[in-house]
Amino acid sequence: MADGDDLAELAKRRGFFFGSVDAYGGVAGFQTYGPHGASLKDNVETAWRDRFTVREGNHEIEAPTVMPEAVFDASGHTDDFDDMLVRCGACQTPHRADHLIEDETDIAEAESMPTAEAESLIAEAEIVCPECEASLAGEPVESFNLMFETEIGPGSGQAGFLRPETAQGIFVEFPRLKQYARNSLPFGVTQIGPGYRNEISPRGGLERLREFTMAELEQFVHPEDDGPSLEPVADVTLPLYPAPAQADPDGDVRELTVADAVSEGVLTSSWIAYYLGVARRWYERVGVDVDRFRFRQHNPGELAHYASDCWDAEALIGASVDADRANPEDGYWVEIAGFAYRGDYDLSKHAKHSERRYTVFREYEEPQTVERVTVDPDMSVLGPEFGGDAGAVRDALETLAERNPDAFDDEEVTVEIETDGAPADGDASDADGDSDTDAAEGGNDSDAGDDSSVETVTVDTEVANFTVEEVTESGEHVVPHVIEPSFGVDRTVLTLVDHAYREDVVDEESRTYLELDPEVAPTTAAVFPLVSNDDRLVALAGEVAQTLREHGLSVTEDESGSIGRRYRRQDEVGTPFCVTVDRDGIESEGAETVTLRERDTAAQVRLPVADVAAELTALIDADSQTTFADLTERYEVVETGTRTGVAETDTPEP
Ligand code: AMP
Repeated sequence: MADGDDLAELAKRRGFFFGSVDAYGGVAGFQTYGPHGASLKDNVETAWRDRFTVREGNHEIEAPTVMPEAVFDASGHTDDFDDMLVRCGACQTPHRADHLIEDETDIAEAESMPTAEAESLIAEAEIVCPECEASLAGEPVESFNLMFETEIGPGSGQAGFLRPETAQGIFVEFPRLKQYARNSLPFGVTQIGPGYRNEISPRGGLERLREFTMAELEQFVHPEDDGPSLEPVADVTLPLYPAPAQADPDGDVRELTVADAVSEGVLTSSWIAYYLGVARRWYERVGVDVDRFRFRQHNPGELAHYASDCWDAEALIGASVDADRANPEDGYWVEIAGFAYRGDYDLSKHAKHSERRYTVFREYEEPQTVERVTVDPDMSVLGPEFGGDAGAVRDALETLAERNPDAFDDEEVTVEIETDGAPADGDASDADGDSDTDAAEGGNDSDAGDDSSVETVTVDTEVANFTVEEVTESGEHVVPHVIEPSFGVDRTVLTLVDHAYREDVVDEESRTYLELDPEVAPTTAAVFPLVSNDDRLVALAGEVAQTLREHGLSVTEDESGSIGRRYRRQDEVGTPFCVTVDRDGIESEGAETVTLRERDTAAQVRLPVADVAAELTALIDADSQTTFADLTERYEVVETGTRTGVAETDTPEP
């Protein structure tokens, strides 16, 4: 485990990541990736795309990062995307009230508590400002919306927001995306790109940023979908920390295979089970230490407004990232991805707020004859009787007919309408005939004006023109359900660096190295001439490097300093392999050879120059079984003096 300060220092010194805009005093919540970090992050995104887009047969899109207010009104973000803010009265530093409460009391989850309760708890627990230690008792706790607002077009007055998640860019385009998927469920759409959240207290370098990269997958399925075949992941063992276990003092993580977790009912959605299995394997593939990893289920109070079930992938990372918050022995858990069952929440909301259909037509195997109820109220009667509320009465009758046709058996029918500002013309989902969308809305209808009141009205059943007819239908319009795996790329990068961090002693000198997986390491190989004053070695090293680059490998060259120093420089940035051109390789009989050194074991083999590209390509390929140990079977092993990997042939720089 990394000591946090060491990790931050290494990240900065060796060009992984560092606080942005230092020249102007810095700005909290923004990080710049240096050359090694940008390359590592890019490799993580490529590996994610390979696994969650290509191999799943999904389609990737790229939506704008700024979208108009209407999108976020529909999604619920303008109303509901809040964190609890308390500001220190003495030093004015803003803090997340829920985090302070979680840190200072035995309440494990304070995010969903009412602000008034948070205020009382802050006073009761005598919580002080972590910056200046002034008491926070009596300071107001407010809901603070995390979205960055902007104006689209100069002086247009059209409000826009920087997207707080990539997901809405997928949901809002569903009517078109379903056509690309030939109107057939299930299908998945992915997106990798930035999200913006005006976090109250950013922290921990890459951990809580105001601009960060998300990799999201929206899996659209039929509401009655049985789930995917679990066969490919049935045997994957998941470290599951279910909500009930979190509430139980003796509760703990359970190691269950995907198949067992589903059959025991620990995981209730096969889609979530499937993606947890895929993700567990993927994390291991890119280098997350699976002993410092778990899936934690959200407690009911913790669930986001759109989710009915959610499991977070969490990684235990070292204390050095934020030494104040963690026990250096143990580190602390950080959420690196969420797997949410979003139901029909998002598509229903966009259907309701826009003019588009957010449904898929599903053909029945056999046409079905069903009873269809209709009401066609006589507006020449309703108009004079109810005036401006006549439309609301008509809508209420239509809704009632669908939900409870028996209500039309009597001579009169009674409905409730919202008056004063309630929409009279129904919503788009009704126009589509998607009656099930209404049921999902509950009390969240943001269209209803605050000053509206509910009135009970009675209408002659004859005026309602209620009819039941038998119709033959070839299929139905359904609002798909959504399962969303949502990955934080920056937190994945942070975890990989943290989990890869190692220290050992080399030639009685301590060495720091990053045991990054070759697939994601910023540089695959460094190529060196053993000494820089031999033109033949320098020329061949240049040629080898160029050949490797032409094979698509990321390669660096270095001629400066002793070979041991150069190895250690590469170890520190996680370069898994070093290729060294020495005199033995060009002076012995036969084909020219070089040595190939593995970072973690410092073992070396000697192999023909002509083999290097193919062997390196196999070593970094996630699907190939090739390991460096295989190479030691097939090629001459070079005896090295110590675990440093400095070959006995090593000669000091003149
Ligand atoms: P959420 O939509 O909140 O579940 O976020 C999805 C993922 O994005 C999380 O699992 C995190 O990995 C990542 N994430 C969320 N907020 C931040 C942030 N402020 N900085 C960095 N990563 C974040």
